[in-house]
Order: sequence, then structure tokens, then C-alpha cells
Amino acid sequence: MTVCCHIGPAKIEVSKEDEIMKICQSCGMPMQTEEVYGNNADGTKNDEYCVYCFPKGEFVDPNATLEEMIETCVPFMVQQGVSEEKAREELNAVLPGLKRWK
Ligand SMILES: [Zn+2]
Repeated sequence: MTVCCHIGPAKIEVSKEDEIMKICQSCGMPMQTEEVYGNNADGTKNDEYCVYCFPKGEFVDPNATLEEMIETCVPFMVQQGVSEEKAREELNAVLPGLKRWK
């Protein structure tokens, strides 16, 4: 199954005043441009979720649990050179705070 997290979760920096980087509220992927924003059913952009999670008005995997999302994301982060242990640690730190999983 294709899911998101091609880049992995963002390092969330809360304290910068002007530059609040949007991250996907499902997978934690940084969304630097509108091109990676998700799409609503009416064709407008959804800036809360990335296009990999929310391509056309609904989640790719609407029944996914937080644990499944973490397991799906780990291999992508490992591909980026992050150790599996570290990837899991970061995902466990970031994902539970995101809107989709609250
Ligand atoms: Zn996403």
C-alpha cells in the first residue's frame, strides 16, 4: 500500500516567530510548497495534510492507526539514513501531537 512519509517527520521548531513551517497533520512531513498540500474534494488545497496522505478529499488510508502510520513511516526514514531506532523515537515524539491523531 502506498502511504506518505517520503521525507519523514519535520523537526518541529516551535519558537520561531514568523516562519512556522507547515507540517502534515497526519504524517509529520514538512510542507514547504503548495504542491505538496493535500486536495479537498472540491479541488481546493488542504494545507493541514500533505498530498500523500490526503490526495483528493479523503485520507489514503482512512482507517490507519497511529501505530500503523509510524510503522509505515519508519522505512522511509531509514532510507534517508536515519537508524530504525531513532526513526521510531522521532515518530513517536511527533505524530501523537498531530491533529489527525489527537
Ligand atoms: Zn502526510
